[in-house]
Amino acid sequence: MLGRMPSVVVVEDEEDIAFPLVRTLEREGYEVTWLESGKAALAHLSTKSADIMILDLGLPDMDGLDVCRAARDAGFDGGILIVTARAGELDRVVGLDYGADDYLSKPFGLAELQARVRALLRRSQAAGSAHVLEADEPGGLRIDTDARRVTLNDAEVALTVKEFDVLALLAASRDKVVSREHLMSEVWDENWFGSTKTLDVTIGRLRSKLEDAGATDRVVAIRGVGFRLESGT
Ligand code: CA
Repeated sequence: MLGRMPSVVVVEDEEDIAFPLVRTLEREGYEVTWLESGKAALAHLSTKSADIMILDLGLPDMDGLDVCRAARDAGFDGGILIVTARAGELDRVVGLDYGADDYLSKPFGLAELQARVRALLRRSQAAGSAHVLEADEPGGLRIDTDARRVTLNDAEVALTVKEFDVLALLAASRDKVVSREHLMSEVWDENWFGSTKTLDVTIGRLRSKLEDAGATDRVVAIRGVGFRLESGT
């Protein structure tokens, strides 16, 4: 667990939505920062870390999805929960990969939002026991599930919450197939209504990150069944 209160950044331009949201999260004990524009959010994240960002898509200065992508590109690895009132917008969020972890359409209940935030925090804080999953050969990944860090030859591979969870699950059953259903139920909440398209998007992003890092380990798709982490040669 973190030795401090989890920090949540709320990026929302509408006061009517932001106020109850911020109040609820503060009551829950989080350290909350409310920002009203995309630029303010990115500026904030460039100097301060945050565990979670709750991000509205309809911001006055930027498209929330561009904020999401820019934050990831800048190395933000906390959880990102997208909220939107735009009908049809969620398809775009799920279909293209902007690096968000979860999505909620407006209007949403505060209890539902709290549950999503807690789920994201649970995963990002990894309350489990110290555990290192390591490949035997050089060039293999070292996955520390307690610190939630992935390194390759001592260089860190930056992954999002979901990418990490998927990789950790695959690594726990290295060289064995992990079913799509198992990945969906373990990494995404049972209240996740999206298609498994989001799993493929996450796997795709994870793959290219591992490849870019020069990992010999690779994620192999087993058609119609699931995925397997293999130690490549
Ligand atoms: Ca808005």
